[in-house]
Amino acid sequence: MIIDVHAHLGEDYVFDDVQTEEQLMAAYDEAGVQKAIVQPFICRPYIEDTRAAHDRIAAMCAKYPGRIYGMASINPHFRHAEYEEEASRCVKELGFVGLKLTTIAHAVNPSSTDGMHVFAVAEALGVPVMIHTGLGAPLASPMNIWKAAEAFRGVKIVLAHTGGNEQYGQAQLLARHFENVYLEPSWMPSTTIGAMVNEFGADRVMFSSDIIGNLLPALQTFRAQIKDVNALDWALWKTASTVYKI
Ligand SMILES: [Zn+2]
Repeated sequence: MIIDVHAHLGEDYVFDDVQTEEQLMAAYDEAGVQKAIVQPFICRPYIEDTRAAHDRIAAMCAKYPGRIYGMASINPHFRHAEYEEEASRCVKELGFVGLKLTTIAHAVNPSSTDGMHVFAVAEALGVPVMIHTGLGAPLASPMNIWKAAEAFRGVKIVLAHTGGNEQYGQAQLLARHFENVYLEPSWMPSTTIGAMVNEFGADRVMFSSDIIGNLLPALQTFRAQIKDVNALDWALWKTASTVYKI
């Protein structure tokens, strides 16, 4: 079994990227990925566009039940009532399994008022927060998550890209200090992925592609770096299955 915890659908207005339902499913069929958690690319900063992006993901989930799951991505600078309403709709009505905070594209410092609000909403809804780290410092520096990880110990926090190559040391500090911090090492060097599984255990690490072009190389990396079959199972799907309850 393989679960991709970090995939995008739609059009991205920050990174000028596109990924369709057909492209995602073709890549998953080719790579043998059985389940994926799909989040919107960064839409234009309007609540209507955000709702439409989530509705598109909900339609994909309905088309592929038990295979595609949704993750909400809402700009934390929207009015808090709007943020809460859309997050609640995604989790309670659409069945989404988590929230995403994209520090670089949403221009959010996670320790700011609007950043901390994301974790409060996740706590109330009982879902994990995936947060973009690395590219886009200082907003995306993992150390900015310290305050939230400490204040919301019951919220599982998934460090997307684990700080990138430059700031992996900060991600390590967080993961050493907080049991509620998990590591999602897309775009990371292969040997670092092996080292992080050795240090933290495969039950703190989860596989993802971020974009489908990464899928096959990332799978090759995980299989090359994680020789223990049981540990490989945890990194490829059991950690994701446990954290996101899918
Ligand atoms: Zn991403």
